[in-house]
Amino acid sequence: MAYDQTNIFARILRGELPCDTVYEDEHVLAFNDIRPLAPVHVLVIPKGPYTSLDDFTADAGPEVVGHYFKVVGEIARKAGVAETGYRILSNIGGHGHQEVPHLHVHVLGGRPLGRMLPDARG
Ligand code: 5GP
Repeated sequence: MAYDQTNIFARILRGELPCDTVYEDEHVLAFNDIRPLAPVHVLVIPKGPYTSLDDFTADAGPEVVGHYFKVVGEIARKAGVAETGYRILSNIGGHGHQEVPHLHVHVLGGRPLGRMLPDARG
């Protein structure tokens, strides 16, 4: 799927829309989710034009991918959730229920988060 330059995170990266930045470097931006689902809910995005973890891991080099995940861990530690535990989550495409077509990892924590998914097995 071609990258959509009009998506909301592309607009944040271009400075057209504001965000509550918690971390920024040359390759990565992290900011608080506008509708937090937990006391800590940070979105971590690469600055490159990647739609999801699928094209990112296929097309970006190992240093870029590695740096991105180093930053995810660093943000969790800085947010104070590494000791109590937290969840990272990245929705990909239709079945993943991805709403914004720019790769993002959610860092969620600050309270017990329950099971990973509703358990349809009962
Ligand atoms: P997805 O379902 O694509 O994994 O999640 C997209 C996330 O982006 C949602 O948690 C939503 O609250 C968040 N979001 C959508 N628009 C904005 C925005 O303009 N600013 C911020 N900070 N978060 C947004």
